[in-house]
Amino acid sequence: MQDARQFYIDGQWVDPIDGSDLMVINPSNETPFAVIALGGQTDVDAAVAAAKTAFPSYSQSSKAERLALMRRILKVYEAHTDEMGDAISAEMGAPIDFARGIQTTIGADHIRDFIEAFDGFDFERPLKPNTPNDLIIHEPVGVCALITPWNWPMNQVTLKAIAALAAGCTMVLKPSEEAPISSMVFARIMHEAGVPKGVFNLVNGDGVGVGTALTRHRDVDLISFTGSTRAGIAISKNAADGMKRVSLELGGKGANVIFADADAKAVTRGANHCFNNTGQSCNAPTRMLVERSRYHEAVEQAAAAAEARKVDVTEKSGGHIGPLVNQTQFDKVQDMIEAGIKDGARLVAGGLGRPEGLNRGYFVRPTVFADCTDDMRIVRDEIFGPVLTIQPFDTEEQAIAMANDTEYGLANYVQTQDPARANRMARALRSGMVEMNGTFRSGGSPFGGYKKSGIGREGGVFGIEEFTEVKAIGGWQVEG
Ligand code: NAD
Repeated sequence: MQDARQFYIDGQWVDPIDGSDLMVINPSNETPFAVIALGGQTDVDAAVAAAKTAFPSYSQSSKAERLALMRRILKVYEAHTDEMGDAISAEMGAPIDFARGIQTTIGADHIRDFIEAFDGFDFERPLKPNTPNDLIIHEPVGVCALITPWNWPMNQVTLKAIAALAAGCTMVLKPSEEAPISSMVFARIMHEAGVPKGVFNLVNGDGVGVGTALTRHRDVDLISFTGSTRAGIAISKNAADGMKRVSLELGGKGANVIFADADAKAVTRGANHCFNNTGQSCNAPTRMLVERSRYHEAVEQAAAAAEARKVDVTEKSGGHIGPLVNQTQFDKVQDMIEAGIKDGARLVAGGLGRPEGLNRGYFVRPTVFADCTDDMRIVRDEIFGPVLTIQPFDTEEQAIAMANDTEYGLANYVQTQDPARANRMARALRSGMVEMNGTFRSGGSPFGGYKKSGIGREGGVFGIEEFTEVKAIGGWQVEG
């Protein structure tokens, strides 16, 4: 059993003051493998005080110093790939190749993108070319609370911590209590890379305890949160009393609109995208909308993709998907599958229970429901499991209306070989991101959503801006 009860505060590992123990469970075998401490108000106070003390000096560091620091972090991060991957795999159930692969390398990719964005970032510039005495300055916001979920641990931690660091902020990270070990590896990386003491701090805890203490803390200036819409609302209410800046990356219920002229692989690609990471991605294309002339074929292809998608234990090498993160998510996904059946959707692949041969661990079956209707719970609610719904549509207008008929607005997807229609759709869909014909967005592009999917954007230049205040100065004296 790994003893991981310490917190990283003011440049060193310290024992918790208010801590109570929590076992971290490997979702692949339901066995505890580490014990962490859930901190309390006193631990949060110590971490925030360290961040506050470090701010005056770190916020004045030069661009060259911060750039060198980010480059060192990238180098050390890359040297710890296997250790990071093993931690992610054990804590949240990503199969080992996937965990050491994209689940870990995505962190390095974000650091690289931030280095590029930071290099070209204008922290000071005149308002217009002909107004040299109007200076616009981007200044660091101050002490930031970073609160992250378990589904893509290093994706979310690097998107927040490296952007905050680039902007000149100091911070306290509270990772998910379900997936805290990778963040402790990250804290060691920050230490080894020479991040000045107090600039980066880590306190483990749950939402009610450390989460609330951070979001109510009078010395915290900004909260950057990724997680459920439920928690996002609670955090915003807490933050409102202190008028803190809030940036929220929340849930999603992405549509994948497949027109009759979509390429031959569109349906299989879309279904597999939905099942990736065992369906635990906020930007997953979980609602497949298919033009009627291709509907029956699409249902068969999606069902075949689900049947072919292997589910297996995390320690095995290969491209299979692993378990869900915990018992709560397992129960929630089972409940949603039951709701789909009860509401009259046609189950064409998967269903209730574990896949054959897996009697232990939070494994579920990749599941496809056809003939779904807009009012069904499986169409309306975020499931956060490998469950795909399929609905037919007849016209482009109807497809747009169906895709936009959701309280979320994170990512939508379009499959068509008609370029004009693709671009019309991209404009019409109400979401922060649209991906077409299997083309991913490039590194450094803004990640975030409309409506209940959140407020603000992460990644690249947009992500750095989130951690800055804008100061407008009139009468600036141009020197030299
Ligand atoms: P969660 O909201 O339960 O927890 C996320 C984090 O917030 C954890 O660290 C948790 O301890 C903390 N937290 C919970 N309640 C809190 C409170 N009241 N105050 C302060 N902190 C609190 O979410 P989860 O179950 O860990 O993650 C799954 C959810 O996150 C899904 O809804 C998913 O769509 C969403 N998500 C969104 C994105 C995105 O970028 N849009 C990315 C990943 C996950």
